[in-house]
Amino acid sequence: MTVTELVSYEDAMAAYEPVMGLEVHVELGTKTKMFCGCSTTLGAEPNAQTCPTCLGLPGSLPVVNATGVESAIKIGLALNCEIAEWCRFARKNYFYPDMPKNFQTSQYDEPIAFNGYLDVEVEGEIFRVEIERAHMEEDTGKSTHVGGATGRIQGASHSLLDYNRAGIPLIEIVTKPIVGAGEKAPEVAKAYVTELRELIKALGVSEARMEMGQMRCDVNLSLRPHGAEKFGTRSETKNVNSLRSVERAARFEIQRHAAVLGGGGTIIQETRHFHEEDGSTTPGRVKEEAEDYRYFPEPDLVPVAPSREWVEELRAGLPELPRVRRTRLREDWGISEHEMQSVLNAGAIDLISATIDAGAPADQARKWWMGELARRANEEGTELAALPITPEQIARVCALVKEGSLNDKLARQVIEGVLAGEGDPDTVVEKRGLKVVSDEGALGTAVDEAIAANAAIADKIRGGKVAAAGALVGAVMKATRGQADAARVRELILEKLGVEG
Ligand code: ADP
Ligand code: MG
Ligand code: ZN
Repeated sequence: MTVTELVSYEDAMAAYEPVMGLEVHVELGTKTKMFCGCSTTLGAEPNAQTCPTCLGLPGSLPVVNATGVESAIKIGLALNCEIAEWCRFARKNYFYPDMPKNFQTSQYDEPIAFNGYLDVEVEGEIFRVEIERAHMEEDTGKSTHVGGATGRIQGASHSLLDYNRAGIPLIEIVTKPIVGAGEKAPEVAKAYVTELRELIKALGVSEARMEMGQMRCDVNLSLRPHGAEKFGTRSETKNVNSLRSVERAARFEIQRHAAVLGGGGTIIQETRHFHEEDGSTTPGRVKEEAEDYRYFPEPDLVPVAPSREWVEELRAGLPELPRVRRTRLREDWGISEHEMQSVLNAGAIDLISATIDAGAPADQARKWWMGELARRANEEGTELAALPITPEQIARVCALVKEGSLNDKLARQVIEGVLAGEGDPDTVVEKRGLKVVSDEGALGTAVDEAIAANAAIADKIRGGKVAAAGALVGAVMKATRGQADAARVRELILEKLGVEG
């Protein structure tokens, strides 16, 4: 990796204004591919889910997936777009081995949806991101370069190709240039992708899991001197695949562009790769212009002409939108806007909501997901939703705490056990022997033993130094391996020593 000169973020902002463009690809969750009947289920043997159409064999003919079109219209409507009355697919021609037809079936100047917007929230303020278009296309296959040190094609001895992904429907959502975000541009980028992901999930058209590549973002960025009209030359950081990385990529590019421009250099229009390890970007390829792709209308597919009745029917069926839902949940859960923002940023809304639906009190559900579990996800560098524990399991832990068979400390150990793959909460409690000692007889014995072993402390307490009881409580908790209810232990100690609590 080449070392890149950067200027500080503050210095960059003092001299320049950032302009951004975000292109988000969403893999739709349709059962079959966009133009053939092949399955889209993940995890199959390489090339098991292919047919003459998605392999681009001569004589095969594509047919449009109606659910794919429906999903595209829903996304367009939710983004406040106009929906085309008539539009076509186009061939985007380029040669790459992971694309067996040597063209990608996409849309060019006739997208299914255009001219919309999405309002996003940054630090309590609404920022409107304008949408240029949302269009339908298909995914490529996957190449694996074997034999090299880096997994890149350079130095590889051979490459393997898997076409299972070729032809899976994608919706590409492109923003108009985002201006006016100023120093908050990286946060706006993150907030936009977050809001878009929530929207896609709410529509039920994709799970939009970024860590699985179901949603990925290209971050276009340029700088212009304050007061300048003309946009600067942009770089395009490709396939950024986490919310945090979107923000980091934008921030890094701002600092890099400022360094290049400030040093009298020029930015070349190119794609760049983002590196998770240090948040840097490195050059990819010099970008083709649109004309290099020799786009032309796809002759094998009929135009898409959604009737106005259908569009209105889909509009009427749109679910509650995420921002509206968040306001409702925020009130139900009794939390502040700021707290809700943290829940959103942590990707925890659905998890907490499902935990509550499974019977847990709102404050408990939020406490576990935003505390213990958020910490774990952070430590492991993964998303909350990817942790091997379910809302139902957390709800069960909450129920065990409520009925008194677990205290918080034990509950934490149960969660740890579930995460370690030891089974359901009840199984972990059983296997690890984690139950509050609520048997009064056993507790009484433990208290008697603690008093006998700490006679001096016991005397102090008898003499009225109630604060010293903490030491005895500690001794009992230790003897019971933390499995006693500390409040009850304290009561018992004071009772036995004949003092008022
Ligand atoms: P391409 O397919 O070559 O990436 P698109 O027009 O599809 O081009 O997407 C470019 C994205 O970058 C859009 O979101 C657009 O608004 C944005 N954009 C265009 N010009 C600039 C610029 N000078 N600086 C920053 N963003 C830009
Ligand atoms: Mg692009
Ligand atoms: Zn196929």
